Amino acid sequence: MSAAVLRVDLGAVEANYRLLCRLHAPGAVAGVLKADAYGLGAAAVGARLFAAGCRHFFTATLDEAVALRPHVGDAMIGVLHGADPGVRVLGTVPVLSSLETIRTWAEAGGGDAILHIDTGMSRLGLSGADVATLASAKSLLRRLSIRYLMTHLVSSELPDDPLNRVQLARFAACCEKLPPAPRSIANSSGIFLGPAFVSDLARPGAALFGINPTPAGKNPMRPVVRLQAKVLQVREIGGGETVGYNATWRAARPSRIATVGLGYADGWRRTLSNRGHAGFDGRRVPLVGRVSMDLTTFDVTDAPEIREGAWLDMIGPDRPVDDVAAEAGTNGYEILTSLGPRIRRVHHG
Ligand SMILES: *Cc1c(COP(=O)(O)O)cnc(C)c1O
Repeated sequence: MSAAVLRVDLGAVEANYRLLCRLHAPGAVAGVLKADAYGLGAAAVGARLFAAGCRHFFTATLDEAVALRPHVGDAMIGVLHGADPGVRVLGTVPVLSSLETIRTWAEAGGGDAILHIDTGMSRLGLSGADVATLASAKSLLRRLSIRYLMTHLVSSELPDDPLNRVQLARFAACCEKLPPAPRSIANSSGIFLGPAFVSDLARPGAALFGINPTPAGKNPMRPVVRLQAKVLQVREIGGGETVGYNATWRAARPSRIATVGLGYADGWRRTLSNRGHAGFDGRRVPLVGRVSMDLTTFDVTDAPEIREGAWLDMIGPDRPVDDVAAEAGTNGYEILTSLGPRIRRVHHG
């Protein structure tokens, strides 16, 4: 029996998808399901989004695309890391990011491809100079069927960052040099930047899974994830006693300490030591002491109804994933994608 359960509300994923579709109209909306749909289970999430009408997906790797393929009908799966030219998987489309990979793909037969143009991330993508070179390589271009021209925003969660508009202008200038093709710009937060950022295909991941795409304001998305951990034991300790490795927390009064079966080996980050919280029945209980590999301790002195066998919300209705991330000193993306395989996934809704 697992002492930790991740409940994924597929109805909420679908509602989030529909909201993003309304905001991004008339452009289409893909589902970005890399890293096993941010840890939530790409097969179940993909099947639900396909049933809701989603016809475009993205994974990071070709292996992820192969695993997703049976669950998303005939939908396009874009592979962000590009593709192995020797391996053609039906309905998968490589995202090509360099002149070298474009040439290799063309030599291996060419065909469907998404071209990634770098407009400020300096990570993957064709530079402006690469685009100029490609634009004059007519025989190379003839061997490609460009499904999308794509770019990725650097600071879309910061609506006032001037870089957002700069990237739009750079992208438009690059696209004008290339044969006309549909365009793909916004990630989750980009969808909230307004009509100028609407393209033929948005590529949200995080917002589908309930992470706030507008961190300066209220979260417009429905929560998707509930991570519950079971209380394995409750003990009473005297004032002055300490909890956990290196005795980093000392009880100021006689206290009740609840230990749950979830630790940093499950992705419950050690930086939450003496900072995190759990939710229980609408209340917050403080995490005390160090998070250890398989166990985490909470001060439940003021919540006497928490007993052995109770389930605490580590992420849940009163514990938004963004709040957990803030306490851990990271973002919601890292919290979700860190959740390990020992946690049982249950899909509902
Ligand atoms: C991960 C990723 C996305 C999705 O980003 P979110 O912020 O999760 O919506 C979109 N495009 C690219 C290129 C990505 O790598």
